[in-house]
Amino acid sequence: MTTNPESYPPSRGGFARQARTQIVIIGAGYGGLAAYLTLRSHLDWRRRCLSLVNKHAYHYFTTELHTIVAGAEDEESVTVDLSLAVRPPARLLLAEVDRIVPEESRVILKPAPSTLRVGPRPRRGRPAVRGAAGGADGAGEAVATASPLHPYFSLRYDFLIVALGSEPEYFNLPGVRENSVVLRSLRTAEALRARLRSLASLGGEGRRYPEVVIAGGGLTGVELAGDVADAYGERLRVTIVEAAPDIMPGLDPHLAKVSREVLQEKSVTLLTGVPITLAEPGRLYLRDGAVVPFDLLIWAGGVRGPALLARSGFGTTPRGRGRVNARLQAEGFPNVYLVGDCAAFVDPVTGREVSPSAQAAVQMGRAAAQAILARLQGAAEPEYRPNIRGVFVSLGRDEGVGSVGAGHYVGLPAVVVKELIEGHHAFEAGGLLQILKRLFGRRHPVGTPASMPEWSGTDLTGPPPFPPEPEIHTH
Ligand SMILES: Cc1cc2nc3c(=O)[nH]c(=O)nc-3n(C[C@H](O)[C@H](O)[C@H](O)COP(=O)(O)OP(=O)(O)OC[C@H]3O[C@@H](n4cnc5c(N)ncnc54)[C@H](O)[C@@H]3O)c2cc1C
Repeated sequence: MTTNPESYPPSRGGFARQARTQIVIIGAGYGGLAAYLTLRSHLDWRRRCLSLVNKHAYHYFTTELHTIVAGAEDEESVTVDLSLAVRPPARLLLAEVDRIVPEESRVILKPAPSTLRVGPRPRRGRPAVRGAAGGADGAGEAVATASPLHPYFSLRYDFLIVALGSEPEYFNLPGVRENSVVLRSLRTAEALRARLRSLASLGGEGRRYPEVVIAGGGLTGVELAGDVADAYGERLRVTIVEAAPDIMPGLDPHLAKVSREVLQEKSVTLLTGVPITLAEPGRLYLRDGAVVPFDLLIWAGGVRGPALLARSGFGTTPRGRGRVNARLQAEGFPNVYLVGDCAAFVDPVTGREVSPSAQAAVQMGRAAAQAILARLQGAAEPEYRPNIRGVFVSLGRDEGVGSVGAGHYVGLPAVVVKELIEGHHAFEAGGLLQILKRLFGRRHPVGTPASMPEWSGTDLTGPPPFPPEPEIHTH
């Protein structure tokens, strides 16, 4: 008897003569990894081939990037080596997705610079990648071989799960993109930490305090402000600018009030109800006429879907998220599933789009994987039912707020629950090893140099991550 729900008798002619079903997941963040883990434990590998494509060699816990900025955690604690997480016969491709050609069921890939390799280790000593930058090895799914002249290759799929996350949304505000930095990857977290340290070393007693302005008082901006204030507060000034009347719009008003008080105790200035109109080097202009000086502007004002969705011909919302049906299938392309931040899923209960969150991304990743498994078995596809159980926000080292249903958590209990949630994800993604790394990982207290991690991908493209180093004047 088999416990594998995907196992059923082979058709006449046996497996050898059949092309294996190609299932491809692009993006190994919260949604992509959840989809991979669900499929891995249920696939009939004689008939199916599962590939996970990502531009970094690691999965990182975006929800904990603010701790890297503060030097409270090291990179090892918030990353999982994908070559350990992705085990044979599933395959890992380190490459950047350039676009999808849904009409031809192909993904066009570009090897991540100098890092293209296919993992886990190729079998029988054969190189998994042909040539300096070749196509993928195996069942013939790579149809074009990359070369220095044609650095792209394509990957055919029968089922595709798109889990590419999001991009910053600047709302066309002049000068904001050019003069701000966004916390969105391990690398940007490291760069921010380095910049904050250098600014902090310039400020302090008898000197002007460098100004750090966080544009956006949502969850990301608030968590970052709490940690930056704890780590560097004695030598920097931290300000949050938020267009809505209060920080963390949508959060229970009592918890928002507690958060405000905690941040103010940490000397974080809160400017709420004041939309930003434009930015220029060192100055942020607000609609009420105020000008906020900054030495570092961190943009946490919102996200939108990845540009490549529209470029690939998918239907998108004004915020660039891909339109999906109740089963997370992309409009007009039933073999493509969109999950996580890049999907505009409308909750049938509330009639509103599910907000981007790690929790929603994990649920969608699992739901898309289950829908594919059902289709492979000829069963009815389940619909995705969002079940957002609560929200937890850290406000620095030992403060936090959170809610589950009608229950509220404030202070240490909220911190503990958030830690448990993050620990659970770490265990699912990286197993016991990841928990040990979290317990015994190195820290980078403020003032100690940190090594830059290995990284790959495109985060370096686009505008420079930081405006020119401002001059810090002494009194
Ligand atoms: C600083 C910060 C703090 C946050 N805090 C919280 C929190 O406390 N709680 C919460 O619920 N949510 C939080 N969020 C939001 C949460 O992280 C996202 O909603 C979640 O990561 C979405 O998961 P995803 O799988 O859709 O995308 P991601 O987790 O972003 O994964 C996308 C993956 O795709 C890869 N990728 C992207 N483009 C390409 C390409 N072209 N080619 C190949 N690979 C590509 C990326 O490398 C990445 O691995 C936070 C976000 C940020 C930025």
